[in-house]
Amino acid sequence: MEKKLFKAESKRLLEMMINSIYSQKEIFLRELISNASDAIDKIYYKALTDDSLSFNKDSYYIKVAADKENRTLTITDTGIGMTKEELESNLGIIAQSGSLAFKTENELKDEHEIIGQFGVGFYSAFMVADEVTVITKALGSDEAFMWQSAGADGYTIESTQKDSVGTEITLKIKENTEEENYDEYVEEYRLKSIIKKYSDFIRYPIKMDVTES
Ligand code: ADP
Ligand code: MG
Repeated sequence: MEKKLFKAESKRLLEMMINSIYSQKEIFLRELISNASDAIDKIYYKALTDDSLSFNKDSYYIKVAADKENRTLTITDTGIGMTKEELESNLGIIAQSGSLAFKTENELKDEHEIIGQFGVGFYSAFMVADEVTVITKALGSDEAFMWQSAGADGYTIESTQKDSVGTEITLKIKENTEEENYDEYVEEYRLKSIIKKYSDFIRYPIKMDVTES
């Protein structure tokens, strides 16, 4: 008898998975900040074994910036960045956890909670965003790339310009619906409280532009 593979609607599956793993939408910010922190850890660990690299703590940080008018939220890090190939393999395969492998390899089991072990942390951004744009430049590369997706139905990658090494992730925050309010994800005070609640243990500075008076 012929054995057939199941077909799956990946967008629906992703939605179901994300909504069953995460009880609250606000944790998307914890996931993105945790990825940013992991990316800085990678530069830090590289600098330990690579004499040509030095790690100056002051140059490593995470920045969160909300733009109410354009309804966007941007998380920037000065971490290791991603090459085009890494964008493909890290953001193109759902439920493959790279950071879990990295942490196991490097025995990073201190106070640093191992989160995102499902390998879907990044995609939690789609709980609050219609579209996610990732602009990144990898350490040692002079090319930058832009990854863009409006959900599990696909993504695009193209060349772009970026001066410094690291990653900038921009979320186009969803419009409010009758059941759900998304405005809060571009409100600075609300973002601050989410950061305080979940990311207090992050060992790099989390900066925030203050634009509200
Ligand atoms: P996990 O963190 O468990 O690996 P995620 O879905 O959160 O799963 O992230 C997938 C992968 O994408 C990460 O392992 C990492 O390689 C890459 N990635 C995500 N965000 C960043 C970032 N800000 N900088 C560099 N790489 C990133
Ligand atoms: Mg993660």
